Formats: sequence, structure tokens, C-alpha cells
Amino acid sequence: MVVDRNAQWERVRARLRTEVGEAAYSSWLKPITLAGVADCVVRLNVPTRFMRDWVVKHYADRMRTCWREEDAGIESVEVAVVTAAVMSAGRRPTTAGANGAAESADGAAEPQRGTETDVDPRFTFENFIVGKPNELAYHAALRVAEADSVPFNPLYLAGGVGLGKTHLMHAIASQYRKRFPTRRVVYMSAERFTYEFIRALRDKSTMEFKELFRSVDMLMIDDVQFIAGKESTQEEFFHTFNALIDLHRQIVISSDRSPSDLENIEDRMRSRLGWGLVADIHATDYELRLGILQSKADQLGATVPAPVLEFLAHKITSNVRELEGGLNRVLAYSNLVGRPITLESTQEVLRDLLRANDRRVSIEDIQKRVAEHFNVRIGDMHSPRRARAVARPRQVAMYLCKQLTTRSLPEIGRKFGGRDHTTVMHAVRKIEELRQSDPALSEDIDLLRRMLES
Ligand code: ADP
Ligand code: MG
Repeated sequence: MVVDRNAQWERVRARLRTEVGEAAYSSWLKPITLAGVADCVVRLNVPTRFMRDWVVKHYADRMRTCWREEDAGIESVEVAVVTAAVMSAGRRPTTAGANGAAESADGAAEPQRGTETDVDPRFTFENFIVGKPNELAYHAALRVAEADSVPFNPLYLAGGVGLGKTHLMHAIASQYRKRFPTRRVVYMSAERFTYEFIRALRDKSTMEFKELFRSVDMLMIDDVQFIAGKESTQEEFFHTFNALIDLHRQIVISSDRSPSDLENIEDRMRSRLGWGLVADIHATDYELRLGILQSKADQLGATVPAPVLEFLAHKITSNVRELEGGLNRVLAYSNLVGRPITLESTQEVLRDLLRANDRRVSIEDIQKRVAEHFNVRIGDMHSPRRARAVARPRQVAMYLCKQLTTRSLPEIGRKFGGRDHTTVMHAVRKIEELRQSDPALSEDIDLLRRMLES
């Protein structure tokens, strides 16, 4: 019986495709060709050495398993480098490596910290909640993903930890691949880029490395601040970057800071990074946090009482990752103990998280904001003056300190010019009272609170 190896290979590939997802498939598995099967060894070809290393490291084991399901006699899978010219000419593959032998899949797998080049299909534009703090970044990302030609280059997403940079990058990659299935997208963290480049230097395969990166239609480098201070990597990145810009290929960069704030990076690099569109992702505000919580709860099919969501949106202000983590914990707890979610159980379950978030608003911040808002001097927060014009703002500040920090009454008193804790208690009561009767003051306080928490 004649075995159709090509049909087997197609089935193996199809299986891997459903396992790894469309994105990883088109980057890494689609370019592989079957050279043949002989002596219980499957021989595969890839166009670059870099790709070979990648495929061997990440997919060889699975490929071997899949092949064995087709043919139990298969012992190993070997991956060899064949340049595109050789491949299309159909000549015999040239093997890579100093010793001239193709690396075997067996024993070549290095331990990895997750596959940072794979695009995660869970991060989409649809489930990215848009609000004031991130609307520019969102619209810019969408434009890049859908435009027929490069709208701005590079797109530089700047924002603090956990504010959605990686989410947007994955969303761009998925959307772009859907729209342009034949184009090549490489998404990679800057850390990974550095790692691969250093490996290429060591293996003397920098030509292949360059070739791979310069053949892409869209290059996405996440957390670019990681290449700061790494001179040779930076140099290589700079050349790749320029080459792609010259070829009108899209580049998307993310970083926790703007190009001008990147340290240990060459001036020419810094200025080039800022050439396209720099879109800041600002800290979340209350409305955005609430929107995100509602959407996550819906996605999980969970019903969470509105006061609980509002409480979380008020309290967990640091970043979206923690916000999600908080919600997940609350849901897990209620599942586990089989009780509905309440405000009280939420406070209990999240005590440590809430405390960590509280600490982020300091008494000094509050005093400064309140003084600015009521147009009094910051010194008036500490001064003994009792005129209503300064005493009221001071009371508001004390009230907010009690609400937004975990400091005790005596501690708060000390920071307000060494006042007694009973003075602070009086201030808190007074403001609580006034909030009932004075809607304008109440609004001022809400506004201050939102500013301080965002
Ligand atoms: P960054 O890369 O900026 O550190 P991530 O993109 O990893 O942050 O986001 C952290 C988490 O928060 C992810 O799970 C992401 O899906 C979620 N997230 C961040 N911003 C939003 C948003 N606007 N809408 C929905 N989810 C978000
Ligand atoms: Mg990230």
C-alpha cells in the first residue's frame, strides 16, 4: 500500500493549526514544507535558521506526537534550513549548523517561559472597553489593523503596567491577520527580541535573523523599554526598524513610557520612535473601570450586584490586571462557599488587595489636591488658622484621608499640623453632615475623590 505522506502532513498540520491558533500557525507552521520521510525520520524544511530554532523549540514535540498518530513507526522529526531560493528551485536542502547536520527535534527543546510570540486570540477589539483614558490608543490601533496602507509609522503605545497595551497589540495582530491572511505579522516582546538576537549572535546566524525580521509586513515589539541599555540589540533593532519603515511596513511599539522618557537609549533611536503616532494610555478612571468590570462579569456569565462592582471600581484603582484579579477572586470565593456575592464578603475576600490600593493615595496627595481645588495654600492644611475659608477645605482633606487611606485618626491629625485625633473625628462627622445638606460640596468631594483615585 502506498502511503500518501503529503496527505499525512496536511493532517498533522491541520491538527496543529487548531491547537496553536491561527496566529501562531501562520507565523511558524505554515512556512514549513515537507521534504520527505525516510528511515523513520520526518524531514521538514524551513526558510531560516531562526525559524528552525523556533519550530524545534516550540512545536517539534507536538509534531512528532501528531506524526506518530499517522504512522506509529515514526521516530523523530528533523527540521532543516533551506533558503527560499533553494526551496522554490526544488533543489536538495542545505543543512544548517557548523557541523553541517540538521538539528534533531529530540533533546533540543529548551525550557521556555511561555511563548511570547504567539498572539492570544482572547484579546480582541470587541472586548476592549473604551473610555476617555484609552480612546486615542484604541482608535489608532484599530486604524492600523484595518488600513490598507500604513497610516502612521510607528504606532507607539505608551502607558503604565496593566493598562491594556499588550491587549491592544494582540487585537491588532488578530484583526490584521483576519483582514490580510497572506501577510506576515511578528509579535514579540522586546525581551524575547533581545534573547533571540543574542542567540543569533552566538550561533552566527544573524543573517537569518535579519532576513526573518525584514520580511514581515507588520512588526510588533512589546515593552520596548527592555532594550534600553543593551547596545548591540538596540543597534540591531534600530536597523530593522529603519529597514521596515523604508519598506513601508507597519511597526507597532509599546512601552511603559513615552519615547522622550526612555533612558539609556540612543538619541537617534528615541527620536525615530516618536516619528509616527505616540498614543498615551492614561490611568483608568472610575467609569472605565466600572465598564471593564461589567463586561468581564458578563463574559464570565456571572451576576454581580451593582454595588459590588461599583465598590471594586472605586477601590481597585491601580491597574486593570488587579481589577480583573479582584473580580475573579470574588467570584471564585462565592462559587466555593456557595453563597451569593455581597459587599461584605467582597471586602473580606479582598482585604489585602484593597489595603495595597489604599496605600497608593497619600495624605500629601490629598492635601495638595484639596488645596488646589479650593484655592488655598498647601500651608493652610497645617496652619492653626481657623477662618472658615481655610478650615472647611482642611476638613474636607481630613475626611478624604479617612475615606481613601488606611491611616488612623491620630496619624491623620499629625499630618495636619499636629492636630488631635478628636479634631479629625469632628471634621469627618462635620463633612458627612454637610454632604447631606450641601449638594455642591458633595459634588466637589466626589470630583476630588475621582481625581485622587484615578
Ligand atoms: P499592559 O500590557 O499594558 O501591561 P495588558 O494588556 O496585559 O496590560 O492588560 C492587563 C489586563 O487587563 C489584560 O487581561 C487585559 O485584557 C485587561 N485590560 C486592560 N485594559 C482593558 C480594557 N480597556 N478593556 C478590557 N480589558 C482590559
Ligand atoms: Mg504588556
